Amino acid sequence: MKKTNETINVQSQYFDSHATLDINFRIKHLKKLKQSIKNHENELFAALKADLGKSEFEAFSTEIGMVQLELTKHIQNLKKWARPRKVPTPIFAFPSTSRIFRQPYGKVLIISPFNFPFMLALTPLIGAVSAGNVVVLKPSEFTPHTAAAIEKIIKETFNKKHVIVVQGGVEISQDLLAQRWDKIFFTGSSRVGKIVLKAAAQNLTPVILELGGKNPVVVDKDTNLKIAARRIIWGKLLNAGQSCVAPDYLFVHSEVSEKLLLLMKQMIEQFFTEHPNTNSDFPKIVNEIAIGRLTKLLDDTNIYYGGNFDKGDKHFSPTILTGVNMESPIMKEEIFGPILPVLTFENIDEVITFINAGEKPLSVYYFSENKKKQKEFLQKTYSGDAAINEVVLHFTNFSLPFGGVGYSGMGSYHGKRSFEVFSHERSVIKTTTKFDLPLRYPPYKKWVLKLLRVLFR
Ligand code: NAD
Repeated sequence: MKKTNETINVQSQYFDSHATLDINFRIKHLKKLKQSIKNHENELFAALKADLGKSEFEAFSTEIGMVQLELTKHIQNLKKWARPRKVPTPIFAFPSTSRIFRQPYGKVLIISPFNFPFMLALTPLIGAVSAGNVVVLKPSEFTPHTAAAIEKIIKETFNKKHVIVVQGGVEISQDLLAQRWDKIFFTGSSRVGKIVLKAAAQNLTPVILELGGKNPVVVDKDTNLKIAARRIIWGKLLNAGQSCVAPDYLFVHSEVSEKLLLLMKQMIEQFFTEHPNTNSDFPKIVNEIAIGRLTKLLDDTNIYYGGNFDKGDKHFSPTILTGVNMESPIMKEEIFGPILPVLTFENIDEVITFINAGEKPLSVYYFSENKKKQKEFLQKTYSGDAAINEVVLHFTNFSLPFGGVGYSGMGSYHGKRSFEVFSHERSVIKTTTKFDLPLRYPPYKKWVLKLLRVLFR
């Protein structure tokens, strides 16, 4: 606790020195960060392999490459984003001018999860630095190799007065949350999200919560089943199902369910052979506790495909479940692993009612060729984000703000939105002193009131 206090005091003083206000200073550090990540790419590959069994392809495409893309976007656009914006001024405020300025909040705390341990720690950090804040970053304790690599990269790039990594588990996280921050950015479970929000409330600290939930994927009968099967299996098995945007469960129209199930089984084998648990492209589960939780979810279900696991080497094979009903335990909690329960439907309204009866998901996915049905699905369901004939991909477009709603989170980020969420929009009106129209001052005149009645319409 004492050390945390010291760190925060030092950062406070540094922020108060106004060093981070200079846009060129921020760009210089973002560029330095980009170079440092490049220099440590092999270490990151090794760390992500050790922590989660990620292949180089997954490590680059979903973690390192995404961070590089976000850095490029900020480096290229920061000057434009940071420029004060002139807005119209009403005639009764003549001769003033009005502008919106962006100011950093100050001290930012970022707490990140284990599943994309590099990308989900660094992406918010880029926004926080780009907006001119000082930052304490706490990575997940469950991916220690990646956390160590992050700490090394950050130490090389930033003075600790500017950005520092604090390692640790729940206790450290709670210590940090007990301090006073100007903004907290949390990515993790809805359960811990509530703890973060409660802690932040003590100081009225604004919070961004990027949480999880159950993302439905719905396949209607009028779709290209082969493409649907391929995309769903890809999105579900990315990072062995440990991603917040993974399709959690699947509703398929009863007329095409047999065909889709068969195609999905074929896709699993095409992607990872018949022995995915020994395939180096298929990641592992983070720890034994998570494997234990996943095995429990198999109780009282029909395993259509897979269902094998090895607690020792932390592998859990791609698994498809049938015979699941809406009341099954697996339909109650976020699965966060390579298990896909499949339910069938005849009428899409039943599915929409089911989705809307639960907490608002982070993402919903709908497969259909029918434009009217696509529009209706989007209109009648509620979620952080959505995709039509696609899964997961919306996360990768940094021109689309990403975030949840309700139990899946509050606030969004990526690209320009990241700069915006880490800075306060300060409205400023400026008036000349060369002359001073007397109309607003007492004693009030009747004719001015009449004029106001015309102007305030
Ligand atoms: P988690 O909530 O268990 O942990 C996240 C962070 O919170 C870790 O750094 C951890 O040390 C800290 N923490 C844990 N318990 C705490 C407590 N009691 N008090 C204070 N801090 C605590 O999440 P996880 O298991 O690492 O990640 C999986 C969850 O994150 C899933 O629910 C997933 O959907 C969600 N997630 C969401 C997004 C998103 O962008 N919306 C992205 C990735 C993961």
